[in-house]
Amino acid sequence: MTDTDDLARELDRAHVFHSWSAQSQTSSLVIASGRGCRVWDHAGNEYLDFSSQLVNVNIGHQHPAVVSAIREQAELLTTIAPSTVNLARGEAAKRIIDHAPEGFRRVFFTNGGADANENAIRLARLATGRDKILSTYRSYHGNTGAAIVSTGDWRRVPNEFARGHVHFFGPYLYRSEFWATTPEQESERALHHLRRVIEAEGPTSIAAVLLETVPGTAGILVPPPGYLAGVRELCDRHGILLILDEVMAGFGRTGRWFAFDGYDVRPDLITFAKGVNSGYVPAGGVVIDEPIAERFDDRVFPGGLTYSGHPLAMASIVATLDAMSSEGVVEHARAIGETAIGPALADLAERYAVIGEVRGEGVFWAVELVADRDTREPLPAAAMGRIKAALVARGLLPFIQDNRIHVVPPCVVTEEEVAEAMAIYDEVLAAETTGGGE
Ligand code: PLP
Repeated sequence: MTDTDDLARELDRAHVFHSWSAQSQTSSLVIASGRGCRVWDHAGNEYLDFSSQLVNVNIGHQHPAVVSAIREQAELLTTIAPSTVNLARGEAAKRIIDHAPEGFRRVFFTNGGADANENAIRLARLATGRDKILSTYRSYHGNTGAAIVSTGDWRRVPNEFARGHVHFFGPYLYRSEFWATTPEQESERALHHLRRVIEAEGPTSIAAVLLETVPGTAGILVPPPGYLAGVRELCDRHGILLILDEVMAGFGRTGRWFAFDGYDVRPDLITFAKGVNSGYVPAGGVVIDEPIAERFDDRVFPGGLTYSGHPLAMASIVATLDAMSSEGVVEHARAIGETAIGPALADLAERYAVIGEVRGEGVFWAVELVADRDTREPLPAAAMGRIKAALVARGLLPFIQDNRIHVVPPCVVTEEEVAEAMAIYDEVLAAETTGGGE
């Protein structure tokens, strides 16, 4: 610890108001610098980042090409109104479209993921002339007016100021709402449930179904076979649009450019943020299918943001996507999930009864911790708190959500770093299961 670390803590405690926190209980972890999968405080204490911060630093910390691109753009032009034409903005939009399905041509840029969902919802309502948005209870879509009420988790409840939102249960075989015992049953019954919700709500009142392709914060819930295609089919039957939220799952996290590339489904609107530029500069957006975009050729789109297509954000998107392509980052994420992370987590699950289930792909994995493997009762919050503290004490930054450890390193994580992290998880689980913690 140095004086600078102390100063950072002192200023933080005195003046910074933190997200989703009781202000007397915020973290005291100082991060001053980073490189790849590692970060440091001012004193030089090192942490292996297996959280990717908020699951957004897909390309790793301080990628030199992205940092240079931001620096070069800053020297040329740091900001410009969204109504102007700017080369970096066009280049960024083109790079994103190159990864979208055939037929998508246009991107609306936002400052992050919440306002991406906000504007996708606005587009869906304007395009259909309908009001309701259906989304799942196990979801997070952001912290603005409609995005937070689309969110299914507890964060929706103190913020229910927007109207027209209806929730349903998506598939989650390990904690099935449908008494299912196989992925096929879970898929079929979850689709039946959604069909009944649509019928009961009145199909002609529904503008869109909004889904995270792979729900992330809710537990990395990889959809079972046929589910997403079935949702698409229900939407088509009733003239409902499908918005896929790729904010966390997109741009390499699953080992694919878009998570939906692994499924037989074509969305109408795609929302993105995080991995598109690894959060080096705040950015997000909506990729709009042409039949929706062209409705606004002669009609004003009633939405906008001062920083839509901000040059620093755009330059960082271009450099990030170029580096991810030329360095094979997405392919690497896929391979490291298959050959290193998945097998190592399966090995831990064999050795520790506290692990109820391991699921995921790419660099997007959840380890579900349970007090009892038969009843699947979640490990209590006090034990999760001990596990989190023990991981940090051993130099690993974890992503802990409810009773789960999300194993979500940058896409560029190496085999050696995976082995290092697994040894730390192993040690901490051993201490927790033999001694009830340290
Ligand atoms: N959608 C998903 C799936 C997310 O995981 C998040 C953030 O974690 C958001 C939307 C909101 O993004 P932001 O925090 O950039 O507004």
